Amino acid sequence: MSKWPQPFVSTVSHWQATNRGRRSLYNHNKDAPLPTEVIDFVIVGGGIAGTTMAYHLTRPGVADDKTVVVLEAKDLASGASGRNGGHCAPFSFGALTLLTTPLEEGGAGLTIEEAIEVLDFEKRVLEEVTQTVEKEKWDVDFWKGEKVEVRISQEGKTKMNENYGKWIAARENHPGLKGTQPEWTWNEDEVEAKKATRIHNAVAYSKGPAGSVHPHKLATEYMKSAMATGRADLYSYAPVLSTKRADGVWELEVHEKGTIKAKEVIFCTNAHTPHLFEGSPIADYLVPYQAQAANITTPLSYSGSKYLANSYTIEDGPYLMFTPDSGIVMGLAHYNAYKQGVMTKKEIYVDHDAYVTEGISKWLREYCKNNFSDWGIEAPGEGAMRIWAGMLCATKNTLPLVGEIPGKEGMYMAAGFHGHGMARIPLVTKYLAKLITTKEWDEGLPLTFKITEDRFEQGKKALPFITEEERDDSLAGKFKKAVGLGGKKVPCVR
Ligand SMILES: Cc1cc2nc3c(=O)[nH]c(=O)nc-3n(C[C@H](O)[C@H](O)[C@H](O)COP(=O)(O)OP(=O)(O)OC[C@H]3O[C@@H](n4cnc5c(N)ncnc54)[C@H](O)[C@@H]3O)c2cc1C
Repeated sequence: MSKWPQPFVSTVSHWQATNRGRRSLYNHNKDAPLPTEVIDFVIVGGGIAGTTMAYHLTRPGVADDKTVVVLEAKDLASGASGRNGGHCAPFSFGALTLLTTPLEEGGAGLTIEEAIEVLDFEKRVLEEVTQTVEKEKWDVDFWKGEKVEVRISQEGKTKMNENYGKWIAARENHPGLKGTQPEWTWNEDEVEAKKATRIHNAVAYSKGPAGSVHPHKLATEYMKSAMATGRADLYSYAPVLSTKRADGVWELEVHEKGTIKAKEVIFCTNAHTPHLFEGSPIADYLVPYQAQAANITTPLSYSGSKYLANSYTIEDGPYLMFTPDSGIVMGLAHYNAYKQGVMTKKEIYVDHDAYVTEGISKWLREYCKNNFSDWGIEAPGEGAMRIWAGMLCATKNTLPLVGEIPGKEGMYMAAGFHGHGMARIPLVTKYLAKLITTKEWDEGLPLTFKITEDRFEQGKKALPFITEEERDDSLAGKFKKAVGLGGKKVPCVR
């Protein structure tokens, strides 16, 4: 489990490296004493969940005159939020397989109705982020356009086709969606798929709404807007070690800084949550793991008028988006890294972001030149320039834990985003702010996200993410040998 102070040095992402100036919030209140008065809302964790939480709690009419403090163990967005793919992209109908597969078989175990509510929610998250960025006039490299989801196998195409049919039918049976225009198209023409996606072995593709953003700048702007109200502040290098209830308030012990008192506490600690809840079902339900991403300087064949025009997810391959001027940011989901044989489960289920192993690093370096048509030769200084790691938080049914923690009055949580937080968090925290201040669950927030004892019980049916055998060094060694990996540690590329 994560320990503070952190016993390793983290890799640095493209986003963290390109938001270092005086407009950033690095080191904010690092040496300042904590407030001594009782704070209305203390948020633990300053990622996109913690900063959007602070933003929503400080909007006019939500909790006027109430105070907000964000305690961040390191710097703002030093966790997954500052290390992700920058893709703010709703799932398409392709995700119906994951969402409706039973828990015992590795899915979320939802009904089709629940699943399309999750898809609709993600579509609304993109609208929420778009409206906020436009309204606030934030300079966060926001792009809104379309994502293509590329299928490269006949099997993948058939599955996608089935899901498209199910999705169209389910929308027609849903009172809120019936008669509305589907936001995704599905194209099975192989020639067109290759041309439109520029992936040389594409056989079909879907197209639908997506966004991308500089996530480190976005988290910074959410926090700065909250602070601009004069009711919120951020304390960097303030890791919370423990909590206790005394005299009707929560007391949080902060490493080397003493205690801070809060009427209500909201945990936005994602991959680090289990260590704060040892012995509780939350610690079993949430499992940290690692993912990696790379920033790729495009060769001339993919620059200027030939730059990418869409963001992507590719069957068994990466997800990627393009930045306005600094090339592509691309990641490989952990299940695909495992399937491709470039990572063992033992390398995936770790709780650090200190290094990127050789297999995944090599894969990220080689993907574009091997798969994009006419990518061509990369000159020195083109291709994968920086590769980094980040810690994410898997949940037993792939859905986040949101709401008041059972049995802990005045203690809330928004955690467990299963590698897909950019597509969910900005609205999750908006509805959580409503729940905290009105005690009402807004029906716009899928009930399937709610923390309940029943979810903890059901979670026991889920397949283990990693078995004891897979943790065994000797077997992991055999696997690495089989796929040609030495398991060598490769530092982030600078
Ligand atoms: C390589 C990679 C690629 C990804 N790509 C995408 C993508 O393209 N699209 C997408 O939707 N999602 C993506 N994700 C997932 C997404 O980044 C996360 O779901 C999201 O950022 C989670 O936000 P968060 O605020 O909950 O967690 P985090 O950003 O991890 O924030 C948690 C914060 O809590 C702090 N903290 C922890 N413990 C304590 C404590 N005890 N006291 C005080 N502070 C504490 C941490 O330091 C951290 O800053 C990716 C993640 C990674 C790593």
